[in-house]
Amino acid sequence: MNTQMPFVDLHAQYQTIKEEIDFVISDVIQKSLFVRGPYVDKFEQMFAEAMERKHCVSCANGTDSLYIAMVALGVNPGDEVLAPAHSWISTTETISQAGGKVVFCDTDKDTFTIDPKSIEEKITSNTVGIIPVHLYGQPADMDAIMAIAKKHNLWVLEDCAQAHLARYRGKLVGTFGDVASFSFYPGKNLGAMGDAGAVITNDQALAEKMAMFARHGGLQKGSHEIEGINSRLDGIQAAILSVKLPHLLKWTELRQAKALRYSECLSEIKGIKTPYVAAEREHVWHLYVIQHERRDALKDFLAHRGIAAVINYPVALPFLPAYRRYGHQVEEFPNAHFAQSRILSLPIYPEMSDEHVQHVAAVVGQFAYSH
Ligand SMILES: *Cc1c(COP(=O)(O)O)cnc(C)c1O
Repeated sequence: MNTQMPFVDLHAQYQTIKEEIDFVISDVIQKSLFVRGPYVDKFEQMFAEAMERKHCVSCANGTDSLYIAMVALGVNPGDEVLAPAHSWISTTETISQAGGKVVFCDTDKDTFTIDPKSIEEKITSNTVGIIPVHLYGQPADMDAIMAIAKKHNLWVLEDCAQAHLARYRGKLVGTFGDVASFSFYPGKNLGAMGDAGAVITNDQALAEKMAMFARHGGLQKGSHEIEGINSRLDGIQAAILSVKLPHLLKWTELRQAKALRYSECLSEIKGIKTPYVAAEREHVWHLYVIQHERRDALKDFLAHRGIAAVINYPVALPFLPAYRRYGHQVEEFPNAHFAQSRILSLPIYPEMSDEHVQHVAAVVGQFAYSH
């Protein structure tokens, strides 16, 4: 098979809904609905309903959604916020931006999500909250996390950027904590055609604080109760997301079918560790991440055969130059450190054909048996 396999193919998805997308984009332009307006209101309602929460506040991107949530939760200087050592930097850079101190926890070696045992070890009298990340699309261990939060009176902000519609014991992620943040970056499971994000909550007072902060500190024109920021969802992005949201469940099932096919093809190959899904967790496969001892050689082997694989992420957060000030050592986060040299994300997206999945798996097999 002579094929170029991109990591994701956003154009393939656009082709399946082109007419609807083109219509709403042109409608926004015709009616000049660039900021706020009916498409933004409609998407906020639709998304709150789909995620089974009372309130949705949209904003400019997923990173802002974390920041806005933490400002509204009231993070103060010296407050410690617990977050996994293995995530995208948005999860923790926003803790610092909100005025808190980042306290990293190690991750579970099989699911890559925050390890509840590590959370308990890191709690001090300054701890105010926990940010579990449903990494790659697999829910974190929410029963254990919520029990710890309750015992120590901590807030929980779920980072759902990679996990739209994932479920833990049958319940949607984003419905466990006080508040949950989402990204609609184009490559996410629900993606806009530019940057976009949102927070959801059942707490009305918190929803109002978040909306106010995101809109220059006031909900009415000319009123500024506090100083805020400007973080808005564009009308065009809201219109696109409103068209895409009704397809999300189908796209999620397609991702799950690709992941299943991958695991069937790869599980017998020597040296390859396929993703582990813990009991009672419904994974939505934002990323399909395998592990191999010679990961870099495997990545190059795939690249030479036209297959784009990606490392999410090459350096665990505590070891990044951005966190040098904390002076962390690799022994403090053995699982996150072990994972960073082994993980490799293979191409996965809803429109990917089964033949493509089998082709990628076959090339991984060629590597495994020739090295
Ligand atoms: C993508 C992502 C974000 C941030 O989203 P942006 O929309 O890119 O700002 C936050 N957390 C995680 C885990 C992500 O993957």
